[in-house]
Amino acid sequence: MNIKLKPKSNRYFSFYLSGRYNRGTDRVLKEIVIIGGGLSGLISAIELNRAGFSVRLFEKKKYPFHRVCGEYISNEVLPYMKRSGLLPKSVEPAQINRFEFTSIKGKSLRLPLDLGGFGLSRYTLDQHLAHLAIEEGVQLIQQVGVVSCEFEEEQFRLQTSDGQELTAPLVIGAYGKRSLLDTRLQRSFIHQKTDFLGVKYHIRTDFPRDQISLHNFEGGYCGISAIENGTYNLCYMGSRDRLKKYGSIEAMEQAVLFKNPFLRSIFLYSDFVLEKPEVINAFSFAPKKPIEKHILMAGDAAGLITPLCGNGMAMAIHSGKILSDLVAKHWPHSTLQRPLLEREYTHVWSALFRKRLWVGRKTQQLFGSTWSSELAVNAMKHLPFLAKAIMRNTHGKPF
Ligand SMILES: Cc1cc2nc3c(=O)[nH]c(=O)nc-3n(C[C@H](O)[C@H](O)[C@H](O)COP(=O)(O)OP(=O)(O)OC[C@H]3O[C@@H](n4cnc5c(N)ncnc54)[C@H](O)[C@@H]3O)c2cc1C
Repeated sequence: MNIKLKPKSNRYFSFYLSGRYNRGTDRVLKEIVIIGGGLSGLISAIELNRAGFSVRLFEKKKYPFHRVCGEYISNEVLPYMKRSGLLPKSVEPAQINRFEFTSIKGKSLRLPLDLGGFGLSRYTLDQHLAHLAIEEGVQLIQQVGVVSCEFEEEQFRLQTSDGQELTAPLVIGAYGKRSLLDTRLQRSFIHQKTDFLGVKYHIRTDFPRDQISLHNFEGGYCGISAIENGTYNLCYMGSRDRLKKYGSIEAMEQAVLFKNPFLRSIFLYSDFVLEKPEVINAFSFAPKKPIEKHILMAGDAAGLITPLCGNGMAMAIHSGKILSDLVAKHWPHSTLQRPLLEREYTHVWSALFRKRLWVGRKTQQLFGSTWSSELAVNAMKHLPFLAKAIMRNTHGKPF
């Protein structure tokens, strides 16, 4: 057995001496539980299964399903997705390389996108990845949520919504923006007040298929961009206070979003494809930790980037990939590698994502009020390098 790390604490040392690291060994160590089957969970599951681990993935919903998401995927993940055979072959994603930004009063600015992206619905992409995971041997348990996860003596004890109790030596938390588990784990961000609301539609409309637009309105912003099969994603982030004030989503849209002339015309002259909008609320952009009580967090569970950056999905995919690479590198040898794995993941995750999350939070402050959105359009018109700098600092390099 190849043990590179010297035991640091007495606890690890006695564990080492007890020989438990070596008992039942490889088979048990190779069992991994993943909580949540969004992009970060599915990518981790596929990668770890390909690396020879036995993976159990719990997803509380049943595929396929819609999610609140702008569904614009930054091209930084394209080489990886292609190389690893992760993209569905039967659909043609929309290629997007132009960006438009409008103020509440309807002033607009257009820019080319250096890196660009593609549009593909989560309904299609997540279902495709879930099928692939099952086909390749991942044990994907749908409609079962994990309700508690505690770490004791090098083991996680988990309880599921259908009453199962199980143990695992390694757990990945890929359960998204916010979950009951965050409260159970007493994560600090959970106590911060949040007023955000996310709403998504699929529409058919007259709009360029190679452009993504971000339209400001009082208290939020709304994106529109093409996805597969000639349809478009229309997704906005607003505030729960305004929803309360106007009483319904429709009334709020008419009173608030329609003040931006671009949004008014999109809402009035499009066909809405979904029966009703997808809605989420109470999520937070506050900093989180990539590891919490030894659970390795991936995607939004490790940190949620503001949607205006258009790369939360790329970060979820990338974090799932780096996490599984590090697990494959360190874990099979022994649980003694846990501290090393945790240190290295924290280091790599921070180097790749922490600054992007910070720039995203700061940039979002320029959105959502009449004066700040006017200022942002004017500033970017006269100083185009500003917009480029924001894009560069919120996006990663293709991998
Ligand atoms: C309004 C809005 C617009 C956005 N637009 C874009 C965009 O255009 N482009 C972009 O790149 N990003 C965008 N994002 C961000 C992007 O949606 C997320 O970053 C991405 O979905 C994160 O993926 P994930 O796998 O971490 O989490 P998710 O995709 O949220 O997946 C988490 C999964 O875990 C499951 N789950 C939760 N709790 C449990 C549990 N206890 N047990 C079992 N399963 C559980 C959930 O059902 C879910 O399926 C947007 C976000 C918002 C809010």
